[in-house]
Amino acid sequence: MGKSGCRCNANDNNGLRSRPGRIADYFSDTTAITNMCLKNPPGGDMKDFSLRMMFGNSSLLRRLLLTQIVACVCVVGVPSRSLGADDRVLEANEQLRWYRGNLHTHSHWSDGDDYLEMIANWYREHGYQFLLFTDHNVLAEGERWINVEASKGGRQAFEKLKAKFPKLVRERTTNAGKLEVRLSTFLEVAAELNDPGEFLLIQGEEISDSFDRLPLHLNVGNVVERISPMKGSSVYDTLQNNVRAVLEQRKRTGQTMMVHVNHPNFGYAVTAEDLMRLRGEKFFEVYNGHPAVGNSGDASRPGTERMWDILLTHRLTDLGLPVMYGLAVDDGHNYHDMHQQQSNPGRGWVMVLADELSTVALIQSLEAGRFYSSSGVTLRQVLATDQELTIEVEPVAGETYTIDFVGTRDGYDATSETRVDADGNELRATRKYSADIGETFKSVAGTSASYQFTGDEIYVRARVTSSAAHPNPGEKDERQRAWTQPIVRAKSS
Ligand SMILES: [Zn+2]
Ligand SMILES: [Zn+2]
Repeated sequence: MGKSGCRCNANDNNGLRSRPGRIADYFSDTTAITNMCLKNPPGGDMKDFSLRMMFGNSSLLRRLLLTQIVACVCVVGVPSRSLGADDRVLEANEQLRWYRGNLHTHSHWSDGDDYLEMIANWYREHGYQFLLFTDHNVLAEGERWINVEASKGGRQAFEKLKAKFPKLVRERTTNAGKLEVRLSTFLEVAAELNDPGEFLLIQGEEISDSFDRLPLHLNVGNVVERISPMKGSSVYDTLQNNVRAVLEQRKRTGQTMMVHVNHPNFGYAVTAEDLMRLRGEKFFEVYNGHPAVGNSGDASRPGTERMWDILLTHRLTDLGLPVMYGLAVDDGHNYHDMHQQQSNPGRGWVMVLADELSTVALIQSLEAGRFYSSSGVTLRQVLATDQELTIEVEPVAGETYTIDFVGTRDGYDATSETRVDADGNELRATRKYSADIGETFKSVAGTSASYQFTGDEIYVRARVTSSAAHPNPGEKDERQRAWTQPIVRAKSS
């Protein structure tokens, strides 16, 4: 590396020097490296204030790897795929396509009320290209028989299964006269429903842990072996231990896997302060379609989008950690009765720009930030240059759109205070921060908008809100929205 300025070396791993070496190995992910290197560009040949989309850095990473950091030993895992085109432009073309997917799904393998094949079929018939199964602490493998009448979906779900997939159904009657059905495994369902280039099922797990009875859940995508909840000495420690377990399995098996923190406001278990310190974690759910997860917060606790701004600001400044991307997911449990009180499919999803429909391509695009999240709004283009960020909506007749550019600037007021209840007792809640964090820089009514960087932004992200109500929202009065991933300013040291 020499004079390149890239601090990427075995002894100084993005601030992990003081941590045990074994742990540092697992957290030296490519996002951390590129973020770090962007802040300290090799050769000093980049503008101090050049703004880079985090999802635009894979070409930069390739350049760095090829020309500057031959001696950089901290890169682990699978190298980023080359997409050929300018990675800062998120737009479909001859090579790249948008793939719509849901990363949070429950079935009869845990507490969902339908069978894997029926759920997969729902998504395939509703315009999705991929689906991650994430039952609680279980993989859909091995032989499992359930009592039809006692199952969550009951007789109704069973009859629908038999009508749709008669060849897959294995049933028997117990000595006590109970009707049982064998649950199809992930491999059986994937063999039946996968359609190359059009629809892809991915095996996953919702690691469902807790600390002090607070629910702490993380989804693992493309998992090889079931991961038992790791436990820990605090909320933060529990989350970190589970992230570590996923990254350890990924490293040991060589399989490309992803992990994300689920519904932080479910039981108000996870605060922005817990999330912001996590290492090796690239994602959290900024939108979850389950009606009980508190996306919007409550009177004394902020919503998940506010938490996103708080954690981004601190990760990118005093904590020296890379961005965390915001995911929209369903967390579907209920597939028969569709209304707001139920946890239904079709509420939130990700749109991933990739060169093929494969698990590796999807995860690598997600990890590079080449995606946006949606609860109804479709984007035609997200374009970042050194000067501006431009958003173009795919409009729907009769709808109007508000495009907000949100971020935090240098010199922000970093003070915060604890939250207290009516009696003055301290609440376990995200602290109260200044309005400088997550400021709305610009708000535009229309189907496209640009924001010109002034040079002092720590990051900028965009949110598009439609005039149209969500057709089946998890919360009352939801509008359809889309969230782009944050653009981070490169800084010189
Ligand atoms: Zn959960
Ligand atoms: Zn769940």
